[in-house]
Amino acid sequence: MVEVRSVHKSFGSLQVLRGIDLDVRAGEVTVVLGPSGSGKSTLLRTINHLEKVDSGWVSVDGTLIGYRRSGDKLYELPEREVLRQRTRIGFVFQNFNLFPHLTVLDNIVEAPVSALGRPRKEAVAAAEKLLARVGLADKATAYPKQLSGGQQQRVAIARALALEPKLLLFDEPTSALDPELVGEVLDVIKDLAAQGTTMIVVTHEIGFAREVADTVVFMDDGRIVEQGPPGEVLDHPREERTRAFLSKVL
Ligand code: ATP
Ligand code: MG
Repeated sequence: MVEVRSVHKSFGSLQVLRGIDLDVRAGEVTVVLGPSGSGKSTLLRTINHLEKVDSGWVSVDGTLIGYRRSGDKLYELPEREVLRQRTRIGFVFQNFNLFPHLTVLDNIVEAPVSALGRPRKEAVAAAEKLLARVGLADKATAYPKQLSGGQQQRVAIARALALEPKLLLFDEPTSALDPELVGEVLDVIKDLAAQGTTMIVVTHEIGFAREVADTVVFMDDGRIVEQGPPGEVLDHPREERTRAFLSKVL
């Protein structure tokens, strides 16, 4: 479902991704771990072309992201095409990023109506179902600032789902939350996993990784140092750098 091949990315002289190869199968959950600055967010951002790669390529559900291939050359797609591709890849950020001036319902309805041209009535009906799914059926008319962080993040997840994405990317979805609110957001993500949603989740929640991940990827210094099932990478890491990182976060 997701193929990342030989992806390199630098900011100026700083090499942030130094040759990333990653495969995510449909319906699987990949958890990405690694120290601050190792390139986790940059990797997620290259997958939906929020960052352009310097070399290599990314494909999602059989479609090359940000480029079209002609012979053995890649040509950049026009921004409009990239935006269209991005509608099929949901992105949930650490800081929720809800529209503060829109109600919860309108936050969810906005993209399907404006980006996909769905009739508003249909989008509202779908949004109400999604709100029920994340346990917030009673908050449709509230504004983001009237919600707890955990509730806002669940709205953000519902908003991402409204575009019926093929793939969901999460960048530390619980790290801005008070500890007692982390569980309710992880429960929603677990639920999505149980329903076969393909996801890549950057998180430091090791318990979640152990329980939900099909594959755990450990990144350090722009490279994937090791990857495998949680029982291997978390409990029997082969690499010293993985052991050192885990001893700090566990
Ligand atoms: P964290 O756990 O702190 O979120 P991360 O693993 O997500 O870290 P990235 O955000 O991918 O790390 O950043 C990797 C490196 O790239 C860092 O040194 C960061 O300062 C740098 N970087 C990221 N984005 C940019 C940018 N737009 N311009 C310049 N440098 C950047
Ligand atoms: Mg990050």
